[in-house]
Amino acid sequence: MNRQKHLTNVQETEVYDIVVIGGGASGLGTAVDAATRGFRTALFEANDFAKGTSSKSTKLLHGGVRYLAQGDVALVFEALKERGLLAQNASHLVKKQTFVLPVYSIIGKLWYATGLKIYDWMSRKLSFGSTQILSKDKTVEMLPTIQSDTLKGGILYYDGQFDDARLSINLAQTASENGVDIANYCKVVGLLKEDGKVSGVLVKDVLQQKTYEVRSKVVVNATGVLIDEILQMDNAEAKKSIVPSQGIHLVVDTKFLPSEHALMIPKTTDGRVLFAIPWNGKIIIGTTDTLIKEPDLEPLPLEEEIQFILNNVNQYFDLHITRSDVLSVFVGLRPLKAPKNENQGTKSISRSHKIIVSPSGLVSITGGKWTTYRKIAEDAIDKVISSHNLQKSNCHTETLAIHGNMDAALKMDHPLGYYGNDKEKIERLIENQAVLGEPIHKDYPYVMAQVDWAIDHEMAQTVEDILSRRIRLLFLDARAAKESADKVATFMAKKLGKDQEWKQTQVKQFVKLCEQYILKG
Ligand SMILES: Cc1cc2nc3c(=O)[nH]c(=O)nc-3n(C[C@H](O)[C@H](O)[C@H](O)COP(=O)(O)OP(=O)(O)OC[C@H]3O[C@@H](n4cnc5c(N)ncnc54)[C@H](O)[C@@H]3O)c2cc1C
Repeated sequence: MNRQKHLTNVQETEVYDIVVIGGGASGLGTAVDAATRGFRTALFEANDFAKGTSSKSTKLLHGGVRYLAQGDVALVFEALKERGLLAQNASHLVKKQTFVLPVYSIIGKLWYATGLKIYDWMSRKLSFGSTQILSKDKTVEMLPTIQSDTLKGGILYYDGQFDDARLSINLAQTASENGVDIANYCKVVGLLKEDGKVSGVLVKDVLQQKTYEVRSKVVVNATGVLIDEILQMDNAEAKKSIVPSQGIHLVVDTKFLPSEHALMIPKTTDGRVLFAIPWNGKIIIGTTDTLIKEPDLEPLPLEEEIQFILNNVNQYFDLHITRSDVLSVFVGLRPLKAPKNENQGTKSISRSHKIIVSPSGLVSITGGKWTTYRKIAEDAIDKVISSHNLQKSNCHTETLAIHGNMDAALKMDHPLGYYGNDKEKIERLIENQAVLGEPIHKDYPYVMAQVDWAIDHEMAQTVEDILSRRIRLLFLDARAAKESADKVATFMAKKLGKDQEWKQTQVKQFVKLCEQYILKG
């Protein structure tokens, strides 16, 4: 995946079939789908791949137990199927995760056991494992820090877990390998039009400060919560179509949940679901659902959201989590369809996706979940074909292996396990150059070879790209990420031939971002 090569192709291509704006789950999936159906495709991402919501999810591949409770059966069926397909197509990034739901009444036990048995049944032959009813003792054995005074037992069920940013990078590589001209740090700053119809995009390469006109038969807007910026480029009068709703996550040490099982709290004080999930040697706790006014790529957690999570989770743990225990806080934004009236809560707004075709021919994707990204992409390209009379061609992604996929899944707890079949190539780098085996940070298993690999093969351009999305240190421990900035910047500057000023700017910008992920006070 070579950025310069792709940008040279962009300048030499007279007209694409499809240009995709946005390199999150929806855009990357759409580009892969389009290219594997034989369409000449390009994708432009304004920042880094997955810089938006797609690196800030709860990392669940799930049908959504909550959506089942809300009666959105079609969404659950669809997502459970997609969960199973992804486990086959990106087995290096998907893990079966057991969840234990503690119950404090016999009626509650029956209610949740029935619901979760149905949930498992709905996944049919792609089931991850059978739901089990647990005794009180077994529940405590599985969740050693659970508040057990009035506990009546628990329900164990299976769902999926993955690494969202790593899947994005692997999807970008898959796109590139299937002929997509793909580049990060390329912002779409305008739409080209002929006779009122969208005929391409104006793209600014923000690293080289160059602007290109790129012609295309169809343009797909996959910009997540920023969808309205593109819709307004198309039609200055366009009304806001979505409202952002934010969800925060707190990351803490495993001493608060020393278990391989996740905790599922079925009903928080405001009637939502809350998870505490082991991930990469830490526990992620989340999430919230709070309407906010304006979208931002790095939204800030609200004080009431932090308190909400701490208050709710502390009711379930014997150990008390305080602010100073939080290693990192990360926040994502959902693009929710604007509610019909101000009193409509966010809980009841559907999370399923929609594909909209504007009178200008611009195709926009809105809503959806990471779990269903492949189906969203399939629907988007089906719509592109039918609305623009492109050559009909069937979707191939149900069985398409994603870059890194292995026949036999590696254990994700191996420090290089999530590279899949790239793992051996990184190990070879270390064998050939011992210095690349040096740790990035003394407390974590990441090594400098991963930085080297990310620059050469994963289009990493900045210290943030590496410490946030190629390896996930910023999300796991923001202080350790901050301490690693200088080492990574020094290595990058040397390898890329950058000067001292570049290095200092990189460190300064990344340290500023880390401060946002560190919970103060
Ligand atoms: C808190 C939270 C938790 C979640 N947890 C889960 C979960 O556990 N499981 C699950 O399945 N789903 C989950 N989701 C949903 C999932 O994360 C999203 O559905 C998915 O990431 C959306 O991807 P996207 O590509 O549509 O948007 P984004 O990831 O936001 O991507 C849009 C991209 O477009 C780029 N862009 C914007 N403007 C331009 C421009 N002008 N030019 C070029 N590029 C541009 C942005 O930089 C961005 O990278 C969660 C969502 C939230 C908010």
